[in-house]
Formats: sequence, C-alpha cells, structure tokens
Amino acid sequence: MSVRKVAVIGLGPMGRAMARAFLGRGYEVTVWNRTPEKAGELVAGGAILAGTVGDALAAGEVAVLSLTDYDAMYAILEPAAAHLDGKVIVNLSSDTPDRSRKGAEWLAAHGARQLTGGVQVPPSGIGDPASSTFYSGPREVFERHRPTLEVLTGADYRGEDPGLAALYYQLQMDIFWTSMLSWLHALATADANGITAAEFLPYAARTAASVPGFMEFYTPRIDAGEHPGDVDRLAMGVASVEHVTHTVHAAGVDVALPGAVLEIFRRGVAAGHADSSFTSLFEVMRKLPERAG
Ligand code: NDP
Repeated sequence: MSVRKVAVIGLGPMGRAMARAFLGRGYEVTVWNRTPEKAGELVAGGAILAGTVGDALAAGEVAVLSLTDYDAMYAILEPAAAHLDGKVIVNLSSDTPDRSRKGAEWLAAHGARQLTGGVQVPPSGIGDPASSTFYSGPREVFERHRPTLEVLTGADYRGEDPGLAALYYQLQMDIFWTSMLSWLHALATADANGITAAEFLPYAARTAASVPGFMEFYTPRIDAGEHPGDVDRLAMGVASVEHVTHTVHAAGVDVALPGAVLEIFRRGVAAGHADSSFTSLFEVMRKLPERAG
C-alpha cells in the first residue's frame, strides 16, 4: 500500500514543486527548510511546517530531500541523527556517485535507508509522469515506495548501488551543460554578426534534433571498438573545427570552447587516428588501464 504521508526537506524551487505535487495528490505533507519563509505558499496550500528537522522526520516513514548537495544534507541531518532510525530518505540532491554512496552508508549507520535520485527535469516537469528521475538503492525499498515516487515523475530504477542514480544523472549533465554551452557560444558568434537568438532558433533546434540519429549510427561501432573512416575522417574533423575557431575569432568572440574541442581533435590525429572516424576520440579520452587508479 502506498504511503500517504511524506516529508519534504529543502524548499528551493525543486522542493517546493515536489511539495505542491504531493499536496495535489492528497498526501499529508510536512515541510522543513533552513529558510522557513519559503514554506509560506505551501502552508497556505495545506502543508504542515515542522518546527525542527526531527519533527519533519517524525511525520512519516519517507522524507524527500531536495538540497543543493550532500554537504547540505549533513548540515541538516547530523543534528537530527537520532530521528533517522527506520526512515527512508529519498535523496534527490545532486552530487557525485561517491558522495551518494558515502551518504547511503552514513544514513545506514543511523538506521535509515537511502534511495538516491537524479531528477532529469526542471521544477515545471514535476508532477508529469512523462518526466523521469533515476533511482538507485535497495530494490525492495524502491518498489515499496514507487507509487509515492511516481507522484513526482516517472521512476527509472538503475540498480542497488546507491551511486548509480547519481552516475547516470551526472552523465546526462555532462551532455546537457556542454551542449547548452555550445548553443550559447554559437549565439554569441551569431550576435556578433547581427543575428538574434530568435532568428537562429529554428536552425539550432534542427541541429540539436539531428544529434540522436548520429548517436544511433555510431553507438554499435563504439561498443565494438571500431572507428572506420568510411563516413567521416578525423582529419576532415580537424579542418572543420579550425574553420569554426577562425570564424569565431574573426567575430571577436571567446574561442576557449571550440579551442578545447580543436585541441582534443588534434590529439586524436597525433595519436594516429587521422583516417579514422571522429569517434576514435573516444579512445583518446577514455580511461585506459595505465591511467586506472
Ligand atoms: P536550490 O539550490 O535553489 O535549493 C536548495 C535547497 O537546499 C534550499 O532549500 C536551501 O535552503 C538548501 N540548502 C543549501 N545549502 C544548505 C545548507 N548548508 N544548510 C541547509 N540547507 C541548505 O536548488 P533547487 O531547488 O533548484 O534544486 C534542488 C536539487 O535538485 C539540486 O541538487 C539540483 O541540482 C537538483 N535539480 C534541480 C533542477 C532545477 O532545474 N532547479 C533540475 C534537476 C535537478 P535555503 O532555502 O535556506 O537556502
């Protein structure tokens, strides 16, 4: 049977959206935040504002944490550690896989179990079943509380290792931040040439929409360790990125981003991959046995 009581600890934009989603689904919602003023709208909507973290934990079995990082979790939960026994902490705070694992160990030492979560949507996507959150941790705990988790978003269980949800999340963030920055960078060069973001939007969107097709084409080759130059050659890629950096430089725009791309492409050529696909850069960047440790 699904839990109908939940505590939400951390009321940034994300935590507030989560508390609203639980209230909207009829949950008894207890909230706590370092800055209690942020609970105003939620209390008006029926949430209970706990006076202490211990009171929030005592409200039910499940507490959802939505904090900046795991340092914030320790800052909040260490003084209330005596109230953790028997609790399920759904930790939706971003941090590294290792910090997620250590957090799960720390909670276990106090009798609590952690489900690590990595939310893949902004606050506006909370409450939408089409949105997705990575989860990892004890499977039985995840399955038992799945209905509660699915009030927030769809739930994608990655495995028992508490670091896995954080790992998948950070992999997605690697793609997200570099691709969003490349878009901003192109806009800076467009702007230097009198082209607005709005004018460029359909073209940027078209390029972004073409990316999954390339990923699907190259994925089996990468998994097989094969990088034939039958479709593209790294030497051609170097020339192409040079054209980008020259265009950017001529526009008076910061060249650091395409410069970093060019440096990696050139390393690939120096390593003997000129006639291979640009995907051979995977071999240049990946962790090799001699780099392990
Ligand atoms: P914010 O950084 O705006 O809010 C974080 C919360 O953490 C606030 O409640 C804040 O309290 C609390 N906090 C931070 N440091 C401390 C501390 N030392 N002691 C006590 N409380 C602390 O984050 P968001 O709400 O935007 O996001 C929450 C999490 O969700 C983050 O890990 C973020 O990476 C992740 N996320 C966010 C997305 C977004 O679009 N916003 C998208 C996907 C994931 P106070 O209010 O008192 O400052």
